[in-house]
Amino acid sequence: MKIIRSPRAMTAWSDQLRREGVTIGLVPTMGALHDGHRALIRDIRLRCDALAVSIFVNPTQFGPKEDLTTYPRQIARDRMLCRTEGVDACFEPTASAMYPEGFQTTVSVPDIARRWEGAARPHHFGGVATVVAKLFGIVRPHLTAFGQKDYQQAALVRQLIADLNLGIELDVRPTVREEDGLAMSSRNVYLSPDQRRRAPILYRALSAGRQAILGGLRDGGKVNRIMKQIMKQEPVIQVEYLAVCDVASLEPLSKIVRSAVLLGAARIGSVRLIDNITVSVPTRKRS
Ligand code: AMP
Repeated sequence: MKIIRSPRAMTAWSDQLRREGVTIGLVPTMGALHDGHRALIRDIRLRCDALAVSIFVNPTQFGPKEDLTTYPRQIARDRMLCRTEGVDACFEPTASAMYPEGFQTTVSVPDIARRWEGAARPHHFGGVATVVAKLFGIVRPHLTAFGQKDYQQAALVRQLIADLNLGIELDVRPTVREEDGLAMSSRNVYLSPDQRRRAPILYRALSAGRQAILGGLRDGGKVNRIMKQIMKQEPVIQVEYLAVCDVASLEPLSKIVRSAVLLGAARIGSVRLIDNITVSVPTRKRS
């Protein structure tokens, strides 16, 4: 596995392979890799000839009071995981290589970024859209995978690829969970044992919302109240938002017709949990 640090060398690697007719896959990550990342890597590994994984804790997607400096970093373990999974190139740029002096372009996807994570973290999606566009420009992949765990981010990347005619195939993979339902996340290592025990409540709340919809409830407001009620069982966890939304626009739904995505974010101590579940309304069989 090649370890590549400079954007120029990364593009040279990709250009050479492209000239040989090789299909290139890219899985962008911020490192501290876990089984959620592994699932994305395995998915793309099967569908491309040459696979690159980027590991870059992107400073521009963190707000001034967020956890940039304490974000978990474990590059040796990450490289090991990548090697085991048959990754061909690990792209590990420095922040100054990505944002050299004079850098000024930003990418924004304003409608998708407006609500939910975008409202809670005003700097976040501008940073994400810009770094993803840069990574696509540097690696020039044919295909890429993102996790459904970050539902709004995946929607933003889909829009960005379409709007900028990048022609990259996007695969959005299901959320990988711990046995008790907690969505895997690099930030879960910050949870104390007590917080870790309580954290799956967010998934339980979203699951209760899904059950209510599958049971016939179609009123978005009522589904929301059911989810909020579950979250009250853990008063130490502060809900940032819970929402019943349209799967494409992410606008809140008052009435659920065909499908919905249930989005949630909550704070437990200094750790922010986010999660989501999609629900398809069962079609009635004709008698
Ligand atoms: P991150 O390193 O947190 O920026 O995540 C890199 C990619 O992995 C993103 O596309 C995430 O959505 C995805 N990802 C993170 N956690 C999970 C998970 N539990 N299941 C599936 N994908 C995930």
